[in-house]
Amino acid sequence: MARNLIAQVDLSAIRHNYQLARAQAPQARAVAIIKADAYGHGAIQVARSLESEADAFGVAAIEEALELRDAGITRPVLLLEGFFETEELPLIQQHKLWTALHSIEQLEKLEAYLERHPDSRGLHVWLKIDSGMHRLGIEPALAAGALQRLQALPAVEKLVVMSHFACADEPQRPHTERQLQQIDKAVAGHSVDLSLCNSAGVMHWPQAHQQWLRPGIMLYGASPFTEPQTVASRLRPGMTLTTEIIAVRDVQAGESVGYGASWVAEKPTRIGTLAVGYADGYSRHAPSGTPVWLNGRRTALAGRVSMDMSTIDLSLHPEAKPGDQVELWGANVTVNEVADWCGTIPYTLLSGLTRRVKRRYT
Ligand code: PLP
Repeated sequence: MARNLIAQVDLSAIRHNYQLARAQAPQARAVAIIKADAYGHGAIQVARSLESEADAFGVAAIEEALELRDAGITRPVLLLEGFFETEELPLIQQHKLWTALHSIEQLEKLEAYLERHPDSRGLHVWLKIDSGMHRLGIEPALAAGALQRLQALPAVEKLVVMSHFACADEPQRPHTERQLQQIDKAVAGHSVDLSLCNSAGVMHWPQAHQQWLRPGIMLYGASPFTEPQTVASRLRPGMTLTTEIIAVRDVQAGESVGYGASWVAEKPTRIGTLAVGYADGYSRHAPSGTPVWLNGRRTALAGRVSMDMSTIDLSLHPEAKPGDQVELWGANVTVNEVADWCGTIPYTLLSGLTRRVKRRYT
């Protein structure tokens, strides 16, 4: 019998979530962010299911874009970090990819390439401005010059200015407003399409919606916020991660369970062993107490997550037996909640699922 650890991906939920993102800004278009294998959900499957509605797809690197093209995806694909090597430029042209451009060095490389290939046409360039994240992007003061240089290139057919928020998921902090001011200054006097919003921006910052949204995590039904949020409450989970109980045992009061003997039974307790561990991407940081869903109600981890297995408390589940299905996250225990227990964010849990987890699609 095969190991029964399954990520059930609900493509209709992902479509619903995409539509919910679009509905926040009906005048805007959206790049559906499907980098990192669509945050663990399967980029090709997600792209196919969104292909008739997404205006474009966003990936981190050309390898991810080429996988989509090889799978027959014809929609625009944006390279969010631009190109790493000049050698990528012919591929970008051949496969009609859109590229970000995040530094003057990249701009120089592009200009040099286009000097050698003067007949090039049809490039879509997204000029990335560093409005305060300080990770990638051209300084706002250099934006006007960079825009002029790009506008002077006959190969550049379309120009968008993009920027990325550091704290859009923390609305009470002043960073997003400051970043918006920087962007205003950077593009003052230029009539150019803007793209600023990740999911948190889409969900909370209507004044930043502009022409192009870039929702990622919300497509998969997880919230970028730690607090409840109106739009988040209408998202549907994109993934249900389930496994099964593979063994059951009774331990006496005072006995411990798992590595480090970190969980000790206060009373005689039935323990279930699950086929899921950190080598599957279920975090080792999930402590005892992390909820799981079994036979219509909750129980929790008891003991440390090991490489291939985890253990749960079956005190309230006397009926539980090997073969019973356990939901690790999904509609009953959200991935946000598990992330909270692990001291992390849903992004790391979803994108961290490994190849050992079988993906199934509905
Ligand atoms: N835009 C850019 C440039 C990104 O790097 C990301 C993800 O990190 C996104 C959009 C999507 O962000 P989120 O998943 O928070 O919606």
